[in-house]
Amino acid sequence: MTIPDKLLGALRDAQQVCVLTGSGISAESGVPTFREAQTGLWEQYDPHELATPDAFQRDPALVWRWYRWRRELVASVEPNAGHHALVKLAGLVPALTIITQNVDGLHQRAGSDKVIEFHGNLFENRCFVEGCAVTDADMSAEVPVCTGCGAMLRPGVVWFGESIPEAAMHAAESAVHGCDLFFSIGTSSLVWPAAGFAEAARQQGASVVEINLDATPLSSQADFCLQGKSGTLLPELVNCLTVK
Ligand code: NAD
Repeated sequence: MTIPDKLLGALRDAQQVCVLTGSGISAESGVPTFREAQTGLWEQYDPHELATPDAFQRDPALVWRWYRWRRELVASVEPNAGHHALVKLAGLVPALTIITQNVDGLHQRAGSDKVIEFHGNLFENRCFVEGCAVTDADMSAEVPVCTGCGAMLRPGVVWFGESIPEAAMHAAESAVHGCDLFFSIGTSSLVWPAAGFAEAARQQGASVVEINLDATPLSSQADFCLQGKSGTLLPELVNCLTVK
């Protein structure tokens, strides 16, 4: 695909770039998105039925088995060309902040430093009752427990139906508020409140760019819509910016 000259111009003029990423950017690393079927022994489960507080209370051992499987999977993969291109892009513009809905840590492993983990981190553990971070638990237990109060531990991610932690919400809102160019990459634009950031950015004058394999509810509103894989399009974008 040819990257539109107007988009390259907008990138050259941009003072603050804000990038929202979703699970699509990690798909080419081998991390399945939630809209794809789960693989192997998890294929009979719907992630929307596992990643909720109710599911956890119903069957914490099952939810922990799923998270252990996801931790092992993510630990065994590497950041892809899309993650690496965002590191390069950050070096080509005055300021770039990533808001990621992903919990896999792949942006940080690629070398991105300004990353807001909007939905938490897969490898962290929190007390299910008090919400505090716990780092010294016995993780070999089927359902690990909080070393402080003995309640069940849960993965440190934001589940469906839960609120975004205040600090992440505040940091994301200020990144959106200050940007003049907004990217929505590999996200279905269906999961709120992150799905509202593109419109918020647009309303305060930012140009909006979508990079996705498929059309989403954002596609018709975006100023630029690049349809294809982020692992191909982002390196192409960075390449055009450096050579043209
Ligand atoms: P989603 O599963 O709802 O949508 C993924 C989007 O990525 C789709 O629109 C799809 O068309 C697009 N896509 C797939 N492959 C792509 C590629 N190679 N290049 C560009 N686009 C591609 O994901 P979501 O919008 O992030 O929301 C689901 C929730 O599940 C989020 O909270 C997310 O954090 C979480 N989740 C995270 C991970 C992860 O950390 N890697 C994995 C699965 C789900």
